[in-house]
Amino acid sequence: MHHRYGGPASFNGPWSGTGKQVSRLRIHPARRDDSTSLELTDDKWNEELMNEYDDGIKYDDDALGELFRNLEARGYLKNTLVVVTSDHGESLGEHHIAYHGEALYREQIYVPLVFWFPGHVPAGKRVSGVISNASIPATVMSVLSFAPVADFRRPTLDALWSGSAPNSNAGVVSEVAQIYPTAAEDLVSEKLVPTAMQGAMKSLTTDQWQLITHERLGNQLYDHTRDPHELKDVFSAADSHAIVGKLMFQLQSTIQGKPSHPDVEHNPSRSSLEK
Ligand SMILES: [Zn+2]
Repeated sequence: MHHRYGGPASFNGPWSGTGKQVSRLRIHPARRDDSTSLELTDDKWNEELMNEYDDGIKYDDDALGELFRNLEARGYLKNTLVVVTSDHGESLGEHHIAYHGEALYREQIYVPLVFWFPGHVPAGKRVSGVISNASIPATVMSVLSFAPVADFRRPTLDALWSGSAPNSNAGVVSEVAQIYPTAAEDLVSEKLVPTAMQGAMKSLTTDQWQLITHERLGNQLYDHTRDPHELKDVFSAADSHAIVGKLMFQLQSTIQGKPSHPDVEHNPSRSSLEK
């Protein structure tokens, strides 16, 4: 979802109650110079923004309902695979950041991914574990019973819900190129955390760990199982040494086209990047 949140002006969302977007992202307290805590700094303000964001989700959900009703009315439901996902998450003040594209914390890279195909994909089944949107092409081919395509960089996901094979998806690479601030407010988060405004960033996400590298400002490591909001950077902790080496190697080898899972090892020359 993109700012302004809340759906079109004609949509009266149930949470913001006004029918008008607050849309004050640019003056979010997370972006003020006096902000020193990693926690959200202005609950009231943030509640309004969250309400507006929730309205946007409701608007999207309503739109999906309309899509499904139309598919049903036209008799297409039996042979239509619907995939719902997003190209990024959103920061609503976490890590002093608003919007998206400035960093690779989980709130910016964790997205919905739904495959809906009655009779072919089990209804209501949730799969845990880190996977990549780069698996969508291979999964679509597999679910629709087409022959696999060798160039796809990530394996199909249908084994995760059919239970026929272990998850070989561990370790997902995300990248963001250097971006340039478009408003003075952007510069505030730049002073508080390493962001893409100062240089390109990459990350490797596993079920437990998130390694984030910055081309100029060093590295961060978060233990998602103990610190789900990624508030405590343990990159330099003494007992992180072994895992840092392992994750750095995995990040580099994946970017260089040598991921460790067998589905793509036959295609080591590819240098394309995945989200
Ligand atoms: Zn987008």
